[in-house]
Amino acid sequence: MNPDVLVVGGGIAGSAAAIELGRRGLRVVLLEKARHPRPKACGEGILPHGVAALRALGLDFPGVPVKGLRYVSPGGRVAEAEFPSGHGMVVRRERFDAYLFEQAAGTPNVEAMPGTPYDAGRWKARWIVGADGLHSRFHADPAFGAVRSALHRAGLSTHVQGLDIVRDRVEVLFHDGGEVYLAPSDGQDALVACLYRRDALPRGADNEARVLTTLRSLPALRHRCGAIVFTTPVLGAGPLGLRVKAAVSAPVVLAGDAAGAPDPVTGEGMSLALLSAGPLADALASGHPEVYASKRRRLGENAGWLAGWILRGSRRDGVADRVIASLADHPDLFQKLMKVGAGALRPRDLSVGDLVRLVL
Ligand SMILES: Cc1cc2nc3c(=O)[nH]c(=O)nc-3n(C[C@H](O)[C@H](O)[C@H](O)COP(=O)(O)OP(=O)(O)OC[C@H]3O[C@@H](n4cnc5c(N)ncnc54)[C@H](O)[C@@H]3O)c2cc1C
Repeated sequence: MNPDVLVVGGGIAGSAAAIELGRRGLRVVLLEKARHPRPKACGEGILPHGVAALRALGLDFPGVPVKGLRYVSPGGRVAEAEFPSGHGMVVRRERFDAYLFEQAAGTPNVEAMPGTPYDAGRWKARWIVGADGLHSRFHADPAFGAVRSALHRAGLSTHVQGLDIVRDRVEVLFHDGGEVYLAPSDGQDALVACLYRRDALPRGADNEARVLTTLRSLPALRHRCGAIVFTTPVLGAGPLGLRVKAAVSAPVVLAGDAAGAPDPVTGEGMSLALLSAGPLADALASGHPEVYASKRRRLGENAGWLAGWILRGSRRDGVADRVIASLADHPDLFQKLMKVGAGALRPRDLSVGDLVRLVL
């Protein structure tokens, strides 16, 4: 029998959407072309509002809790802050995605089909949810107006031992060509994610050598790198950052990264995928996908704004040092910006004085 909803892609967005749709009584087929556990390049940090969204789905996952952020500027200035409410969590993507897919498969009304790529000729459904990631096949429809970020950034991620990291928060080290993210992972492993401007990716080397070159080039890590051992392969992704004009072109509704992916500098992608599953299911259950389209746009707005700000600022000589020094000197401002990231404040809630304090 044909389903009410065909969900294409069993990553975070597709599995979360399938759970919510199935719970509302819609008959769902969830297609995943790979078989879990499958590799996925990611910084693996879920912000507190993403952790809350996971709990609101009635789900729990044993990630590593983190209480805040630590920013390090190219010149070595450090600013630390705790999340305004709740804790974040670091997850192993391959296990987290497998867990969500399994939860979807166990949800009433959901038939989950691993190892099954989408075949347009095979399925008829009232709605198709395109949750097939950054390079969604549905972007070929010009109605979505998918546009990639002009910054042409790329990312690498892996896990290592032999690197001395801060174990209670996510650390972001800014450098001329991008940022390095360090976070506690399973056991003694550290998550390492490196984001680069395309022209700053270390050349002529394999991905492990690129990560090593980057880590060893950072003065702030000089005394923290021991004999580094890679415990998982280095995975790559790019180009990062994507906007869509519309998340709906009936019968297709986009979800997760396919519906617009803020640059990972905000660490927002997984939270956005989890937060938008409920609104998506409500909209399809009531036959009003346009309601989802506007909610999804609002949910992604702050992350897009923040990513633009951080990336524009960090590309200019000396600005990252000044901004991180200001965040260290004005912890209230750091908290305010984190609230903007979490959607608890809007960018317009920042005063001109706040913006001046940030850059002076
Ligand atoms: C380097 C890097 C660091 C990041 N760091 C963070 C971070 O710290 N925090 C954070 O929240 N986010 C981070 N992100 C973003 C985050 O990874 C994404 O936002 C998240 O994976 C989006 O989930 P998704 O389900 O939309 O897409 P995906 O996870 O990409 O899942 C899409 C799924 O669709 C499947 N698929 C594709 N085509 C088909 C098809 N034709 N048929 C069937 N199945 C198909 C794929 O196999 C895949 O499983 C980072 C991203 C990168 C690249």
